[in-house]
Amino acid sequence: MTLAIQPVRPEPATAPRRLTILGSTGSVGCSTIDLIERQPEAFEIEALTANSSVRELAEQARRLRPNLAVIADETCYGELKEALAGTGVTAAAGAEALIEAAARPSDWVMAAIVGAAGLAPTLAAVRRGAAIALANKETLVCAGALMVAEIARHGATILPVDSEHNAIFQVLEPEQHEAVERIILTASGGPFRSHSREAMAEVTPAQAVAHPNWDMGAKISVDSATMMNKGLELIEAHHLFGLSEAQIEILVHPQSVIHSMVAYVDGSVLAQLGQPDMRTPIAYALAWPERMAAPVERLDLGAIGQLTFEAPDPVRFPALRLAREALRAGGGAPTVLNAANEVAVEEFLRGRTSFLSIADIVEHVLEAIPAKPLDCLEDVHQIDKEARALARRLTNGTADKG
Ligand code: NAD
Ligand code: MG
Repeated sequence: MTLAIQPVRPEPATAPRRLTILGSTGSVGCSTIDLIERQPEAFEIEALTANSSVRELAEQARRLRPNLAVIADETCYGELKEALAGTGVTAAAGAEALIEAAARPSDWVMAAIVGAAGLAPTLAAVRRGAAIALANKETLVCAGALMVAEIARHGATILPVDSEHNAIFQVLEPEQHEAVERIILTASGGPFRSHSREAMAEVTPAQAVAHPNWDMGAKISVDSATMMNKGLELIEAHHLFGLSEAQIEILVHPQSVIHSMVAYVDGSVLAQLGQPDMRTPIAYALAWPERMAAPVERLDLGAIGQLTFEAPDPVRFPALRLAREALRAGGGAPTVLNAANEVAVEEFLRGRTSFLSIADIVEHVLEAIPAKPLDCLEDVHQIDKEARALARRLTNGTADKG
């Protein structure tokens, strides 16, 4: 068993840390900006990127004055350029510009794009050996082994931002890695934790995105509701911490106070606790190996009173089983799982398919596409494309049936 990510400790910072934020207009991106604006002397911004929220991106760029602001949607280029005229911030658009933003020199990259769309830019940051605060879990799910190999080859540093993985990163001593027996990823259980399957059949996108504990982007909120989020995190943890599928346990903990745990061979279990506020793991990843202040509500266990735990229900939440099966199958199976899930969630959010059909679609696509080995990134793109096309056909099928 080896630790897949071996962060290289930087020299103590003498100058402000230069940061690029990929996905700066999203939930994680905005929390990142909230933190750095409270400590302007500690950070400088190299580049900001967004998909199509051009007004928000321009507004952030006018405040933070990066060298570059990139909008992925090329039709928004004119508007971005005009909004940034006279500011000294270069405007750019399109997929290549996104990669350029990640590739230009900066000390730290916050990878906070949602979905496999984050793979190419994150990889560009990996290939220049950057320190990457990684929120974009889908990149590790769709191309895990290849990413881990590239991280090692280029000496990049991965700092997990996902709260569970950040918790494990905080309590896992790299020199004691061999003594880790298992890790326990906690899950809130999402908004439908106590719903029957019948009740889940009726849920709307608005209900699915209303998470009880965390305020997050739409896609991850739906993933939390189906518990596919925990399935993706299982695969993410496997790659980050070099643990087998059997060593990763999932435990429902509705209060989201214990963010995850590491169990050692001597029976010790170490946990990281805090309020469910992403600014804590983001602050940890931005300031690592030091710590910075974060304006989060302080944990008051006396006021909370009780922490409760329960086993996840594999019948009501089949996504967990699908993710375990995909991880065991290996090769392109997690790529297929991720791609089919992205399409199914998008279609659900558009009101074109039902909540329960999300896992059904993922299962059908996994059954239809054999788990081929992934030898290169081209293989990832190919399988991702194939899985998306099939998932689209299946969602259209369910829409036709009404
Ligand atoms: P979000 O939807 O709020 O924001 C996504 C960001 O990515 C936006 O800036 C958007 O403009 C950009 N983007 C979206 N599609 C893009 C594309 N095709 N090309 C380029 N840019 C694109 O998402 P989020 O909730 O901030 O999540 C971001 C990532 O962090 C996800 O991978 C998510 O799983 C992970 N994460 C989020 C949270 C959270 O609390 N929000 C917690 C843990 C992990
Ligand atoms: Mg998480």
